[in-house]
This record gives sequence, C-alpha cells and structure tokens, in this order.
Amino acid sequence: MLVPMRILLDHAAENNYGVAALNVNNMEQIQAIMEAAKETNSPVIIQASRGARKYTNDAYLRHLMLAAVELYPEIPVAMHLDHGNAPDTCFSAIQQGFTSVMMDGSLAADGKTPATYDENVAVTKQVVDVAHAFGVTVEGEIGVLGGIEDGHGAGGSGLDHVTDPAEAERFVAATGVDALAVAIGTSHGAYKFDKKPTGDVLKMSIIEEIHRRLPNTHLVMHGSSSVPRELVDLVNKYGGKMKESYGVPLEEIQRGIKHGVRKVNVDTDNRLAITSAIRKVFAETPDKFDPRDYMAPARESMKAVCKERMTAFGQAGNASKIKSVSLATMVSFYAKKK
Ligand SMILES: [Zn+2]
Repeated sequence: MLVPMRILLDHAAENNYGVAALNVNNMEQIQAIMEAAKETNSPVIIQASRGARKYTNDAYLRHLMLAAVELYPEIPVAMHLDHGNAPDTCFSAIQQGFTSVMMDGSLAADGKTPATYDENVAVTKQVVDVAHAFGVTVEGEIGVLGGIEDGHGAGGSGLDHVTDPAEAERFVAATGVDALAVAIGTSHGAYKFDKKPTGDVLKMSIIEEIHRRLPNTHLVMHGSSSVPRELVDLVNKYGGKMKESYGVPLEEIQRGIKHGVRKVNVDTDNRLAITSAIRKVFAETPDKFDPRDYMAPARESMKAVCKERMTAFGQAGNASKIKSVSLATMVSFYAKKK
C-alpha cells in the first residue's frame, strides 16, 4: 500500500527504530527492495532523485512504483523525492503521485551554491504549505552535506557547513517540516572519510543536541552508506578501480536512531552491491550475453544489502503493524495543526 511518509516516521518514532530510504532508477532495484521488505516484514521508503526522475522520464518510475504497491499490498511504501532543488520540482513530484518530498533549500536552485537561512526558510515554507494541503510529507535540510551525487551537492568536505542546533530549532518552527535532514560531517557518494570516522569528523553529538531541542521532529541522516569493505574489494577483484574508502559505521547509525533519526539514506551500498555482482559475472563467465544473467545476480546482491540494513535499523518486523492512512486523512491532520 502507498502511504504518506509521515506515518512511517511516526511509527518508527513511537517504536524507536529507523527506516532505510533507498534510492532507485530501475525495475531491478525496486524489486530488490520489495523482496527484502517482504522477507523481513519491513515498511519501506523508496526515493528518487532529480537524476533518477530524468533517467526514467517519470512515467516509467511512477508505473514501476505502482507495480510494487500492487504486487505487495501488505507492505507500506512511501514514495519520496530525494533532494528537490526548487518548489517546482517538489510540485511536479506531488503531481506524479509521490507521497513525500524533500525540499533541499540548503542549496540554491542550481543544487550547488549554499543558500542563506532566509532563502532556505522561504522555499521550504512554500513547499510545506502546498504539500500539506495534499497530505504529502515534507523533509527539509539545514546545514550542507559534503560531496556531490547525481550532480547535486556543494562539493567539499562534510565539515564545511555542519548544522547549528539552534538554527535547526528555529527552522522547524518557521517552516513546519515533518522531517529534517542534518549535516554532521557526512558526504554523498562512495568517498566519505579516509579512515574509520571518529567523533571529530562524524559529529553524532550534534544529532543528540538537535534531538534534545526538537524531540518531535524526525531527523534524517543523508550520505549514510556504510561502504562495506567486502563490496569494494569485490568490485576491485573483478576489474574495478575504486579507492579505499570509509562510510558511516552501522553502529553510529544505530546511535543516531537512539536519538531521533528515523530516516537513513542509503544509495552507495546498493550501487556497490549491483556493480560487484555484475562485474563477477562478466569476469567469470565472459561468454554470457543475456542481460538477465547479470541483472538477476545484481538484484539478489542488492536485496541482501537491503535486508541487512532493514534489520540493523530495526524496521524489520514492523510492516504488518502499520495501518494505512490516506493522504486525505493527512490533509485534515495538517489543517488542525495550523
Ligand atoms: Zn542526500
């Protein structure tokens, strides 16, 4: 069933777990997520970036998502826009049936230049007003993540613009967002840290402070792939050339979940799972040429990573406990809060 993301995050908060938000561009990725969700009884957040929407031309993506909802009626699925760069991007996603949008006003509409606090509040508030009138969930961002992914990002280190907890508190009051992405030193992409991160580069203490100030706001960790060594090694074993890299350790994410983190964005780990599996088939059986011979193992490999994350974040076992709530119900929920 297709549900507003807010109800998944509310359930996660009431029951102290986190939900992986998994990026997709194609059928096999959606299948991998849904099979992992079914096998672990997990609610799911499937998200698409602007790059993914362009790659799939929206229509393919929408129908693939609807196929997932039709085939797995028992699994609550939120369809989320990752890093909307401007209000129009969010509005077109709502038109496409997304039940949740991220307005990333931490950057200007070019998706690169850090925006001012006032600019961020203005665009985010504009999206909240429209989205909530349709019952759609909104995620905002305060502070700027490091790195670039799908052409989106300020580049540079994750420590350039970490979130100021006092500013986060004012931002939520000014905009009314349901969920807040915070910058605590992480970056998008495969190269986050050059050694196993400690508290001076991965600032989990900021999450704890924000959660103290905003106990009722769902926090979101971006750039939270763990970049498992064994997957990077597999890619390189079968002809890849990836540099050594460190992601966000699972135990740090679990610490975040204890302090209000309800949505954890994971993309790179799934990309590594897919690429390592495809490279293995190409390297070991170069006579194969049917795409199913490598796409099926790729799908299996991504499913295994998704199951691991769903279990580690605590969302496993919860799908059947979540009641369907319509967007119309959410419309009156938001109207009452005004
Ligand atoms: Zn992100």
